[in-house]
Amino acid sequence: MGGREGESERGPSIAVAMVVPVTEAEGPGRRYALWVQGCPLRCPGCCNPEMLEFAGGERRSVSSLIAEARAAEVEGVSLLGGEPFAQAAGLAMFAEGVREAGLSVMIYSGYTLEELRGRARDEPGVGRLLAACDLLVDGRFEAAQRSVRRRFIGSDNQVLHFLSERYQADDPRLGGGNTVEIRMRGGEITLNGWPVLGARTRLVR
Ligand code: SF4
Repeated sequence: MGGREGESERGPSIAVAMVVPVTEAEGPGRRYALWVQGCPLRCPGCCNPEMLEFAGGERRSVSSLIAEARAAEVEGVSLLGGEPFAQAAGLAMFAEGVREAGLSVMIYSGYTLEELRGRARDEPGVGRLLAACDLLVDGRFEAAQRSVRRRFIGSDNQVLHFLSERYQADDPRLGGGNTVEIRMRGGEITLNGWPVLGARTRLVR
């Protein structure tokens, strides 16, 4: 639904809004975080409004992203957006490629797990991406239920699902409140890990 799957001369590609090569605010341990460009949902108060349109972002080959994530010396990758499952086939290849190197995969989706399992019946890419996912944070962002008390959760309706044996609910790194990282790159200050209404990642140009 509403995806922007792509091919380039270098094989399958993904529309990327932002990459943070190493972060500790988007999942357990040190993680390579990739925000995709484009989301068909429109949650009021969305933290990343600049990532909603499918036009835009940078088209990157899946192979180059796999190589970059493998070189980052991280525990795993986190996929955010935008909506990762709008580019499910390309991201499934990415997730499978980093898993071969022993990295874990965490995904933040606006769809519920139930919705994704329903879509997987007709969309093989959705099923493959779910199968390559260890941790899933699911559901729309509900501004009225915004939360900073549950680590990695933006609003209280969202659920952290354990889709493999890789992580357990008693992992202390999954508990506590949200954390925030602020970094300056070039002339831009970015913030991640915190559900700021309306503009999470780009504060100042
Ligand atoms: S909060 Fe997430 S699911 Fe909702 S509109 Fe924004 S990017 Fe899409």
